[in-house]
Amino acid sequence: MRKPIIAGNWKMNKTLAEAVSFAEAVKGNVPSNDVVDAVIGSPALFLAPLASSLEGTDVKLAAQNTYFENAGAFTGENSPAAIADLGVQYVIIGHSERREYFHETDEDINKKAKAIFANGMTPIFCCGESLETYEAGQTAEWIEGQITNGLVDLTAEQVSSMVIAYEPIWAIGTGKSADANIADEICGVVRATVEKLYGSDVASKVRIQYGGSVKPENIAEYMAKENVDGALVGGASLEAESFLALLEAV
Ligand code: 13P
Repeated sequence: MRKPIIAGNWKMNKTLAEAVSFAEAVKGNVPSNDVVDAVIGSPALFLAPLASSLEGTDVKLAAQNTYFENAGAFTGENSPAAIADLGVQYVIIGHSERREYFHETDEDINKKAKAIFANGMTPIFCCGESLETYEAGQTAEWIEGQITNGLVDLTAEQVSSMVIAYEPIWAIGTGKSADANIADEICGVVRATVEKLYGSDVASKVRIQYGGSVKPENIAEYMAKENVDGALVGGASLEAESFLALLEAV
């Protein structure tokens, strides 16, 4: 049995005061960690204060990015060692916005995945196709390529414990969510790719999220699907009430 994982991705939103008041509003009200993993993906600036506000609660933190070196002359970057030291458990990597606007490659993302594991955290590894690729009927090959390149040299144990998020780019922030059957089918492609690379035991353990215009009103449709173990949510994770409603629907 795979435990559901609902992660908010705040992207570049909120001030410190807004971030902390969100944490205060949700921390006593989330379902138990035994039932569902509740994760907030915050800008790096707010991770330290959020970690103190959320200490000992059932809400976990994710960074939205990391560098792959643990220290050095990399102006403007955050190291995985420093992020882990704050008590952060997850790091989102390979988001389509980072691939597109910051030119991150599969190879960069693979290095980040290794560095995240080396520092005792868990990657939430994003993959997803453009509208053009979707309309050309090439989604499965595209996703298989991103997964295969992104997981190079990770161990079976690491892949079993990680989270993979399928986020079709055409469904992100557009209000045009993928039909739940399509989400299930492509999350199935992710699982089949993991099975091809690591075998059926690892494929049965890896948790796969759908992301793209998920909201409290539609999350149950996705969660009902066999291959969908959770959601990575942007817009609908920004308000405490809506984040709690997502968790309750699971
Ligand atoms: P939306 O939920 O706003 O479509 O964003 C999805 C996303 O990119 C989460 O990482």
